[in-house]
Amino acid sequence: MPEATAQQVATYKNFIGGEWRASEGGVFDVRSPANGELLYRAQRSTVDDAHAAIRAARDAFESTEWREDTATRTAALSKFSEAVRARHQDLATQLTRESGKPFPISRGEALRLAETTSYYAGLTRWIFGRSQIPQPNSISMIMREPVGVVAIIVPWNAPLALLARAIAPALAAGNAVIVKPASYTAGSTVELGRIIEGIEEFPKGIVNIVTGPGNPVGAELARHDDVDMVSFTGDTSTGREIMRLASGNLKKVSLELGGKSPTIVFADSNLDRAIRGAINAASFYNAGQICIAGTRVLVEESVHEQLVGRIKEMVPKMKVGPGWEKGVEVGPVISEAQLEKITGYIETGKKEARLIVGGQRLTDGDLAKGYFVAPTVFDGMSPDAKIAQEEIFGPVMGITTFKDLDDAIRIANHTRYGLVAAVWTRDINKAMKIATRVRAGSIWINTFGKMYQSTEMGGFKQSGLGRQYGLEGLFEYTELKHVNIQIEK
Ligand code: NDP
Repeated sequence: MPEATAQQVATYKNFIGGEWRASEGGVFDVRSPANGELLYRAQRSTVDDAHAAIRAARDAFESTEWREDTATRTAALSKFSEAVRARHQDLATQLTRESGKPFPISRGEALRLAETTSYYAGLTRWIFGRSQIPQPNSISMIMREPVGVVAIIVPWNAPLALLARAIAPALAAGNAVIVKPASYTAGSTVELGRIIEGIEEFPKGIVNIVTGPGNPVGAELARHDDVDMVSFTGDTSTGREIMRLASGNLKKVSLELGGKSPTIVFADSNLDRAIRGAINAASFYNAGQICIAGTRVLVEESVHEQLVGRIKEMVPKMKVGPGWEKGVEVGPVISEAQLEKITGYIETGKKEARLIVGGQRLTDGDLAKGYFVAPTVFDGMSPDAKIAQEEIFGPVMGITTFKDLDDAIRIANHTRYGLVAAVWTRDINKAMKIATRVRAGSIWINTFGKMYQSTEMGGFKQSGLGRQYGLEGLFEYTELKHVNIQIEK
């Protein structure tokens, strides 16, 4: 990639009420986590910008027919999906530059945005209520309406895919939205404003994008009385703060938060597939920065040695580097702060468990310019260890042995999180016992990471509130209203 000079870099503006606006707060720099190159600048918005976006969204929601015009919403979302698909290579290039992740992963994300929008474009006309005759001469209608103005706060680890599952159902349901992207990856989201402004079916102000610090910009969106709902994906502690801020006007909240997900490997599994599945689950491909990452591998004692042997052989072979280089499997972590946090956990892990792979920052050659961490695996991890309990959000996997089915279930549930779990076994009874007893929003049997637009996902316990994808993921962005008609005799 060419080195850009300070003069050449683009400056993204906020997209408010269909116009590109600069903030009085100035701009901030976004640099590549892979080599420190200055990539672009974005607006360091203030509370005033958040207010302008809220006003624009409210005006558009109240003064246009968007909320009642399903055909226009289908057309708008379909055109958006097609435009994202047509531009997916550019969006993926941008995402790889700003996140450092391997290009094929970025491409998959951009395409997922297109597919999710297309799925919900088809569902706009599927938003029905019910009706009933509860007593003679009385007819009740239960109608589904949009919630109103929805703030969508997005993290940096998978910004396009995670935005997709909130913005697509929110718009399909007839809401107006304000998107606050993560600062590290603001550019790929602001690029979407260029697509939206070219689609005439979107009324001005139905989609607004405001960049800038989580606090105050995201916090103001979560707090403001004229925002009806906040949809947030990110850290559990930030989610808790958002819920607190949202309590002022009791707005709806949808939260998808952290995880510490187990991959459970039984001795009777197809061990080769299970081990590959466990490595895939650890999400090294995104430097472990994935909320569903299977960071705890629970393995039955009798096959522990075999699993450890294969992992020691396979994981060190993964190619680490900038995501735009061919063949790279593991990119950098997003920032210096994340690098320090992750290497801090690795040092803790060295005291709590046995390091068997990796365990350090990588600084060979050009890697020194970025935030690269070697894929790292600990064995002998106690279920109570700090590295087994806290979300590291880096390329770090821990292995724990279990004795039998009950022991596996106990350890799997020994966490405050409950996002996903995977189990590898040929015994249907064991698999279904895990599926019914492990408290998590998605359970994968002999596979990992299967997520479809049509199937709901979300967290138990402190992994979140509400569901993404599917019909339930659409209904999150609606209110139910009861209308009763009295027939005159
Ligand atoms: P956050 O959860 O804090 O950030 C996610 C989004 O929320 C960003 O857009 C951020 O803005 C915004 N935000 C931050 N603070 C507030 C606030 N007070 N009110 C409203 N919005 C806010 O993640 P971080 O980037 O700070 O990362 C910290 C840790 O979070 C990571 O180490 C990781 O463990 C975890 N994490 C988990 C994710 C998951 O999906 N489970 C995703 C991302 C992070 P801005 O970017 O401007 O700060």
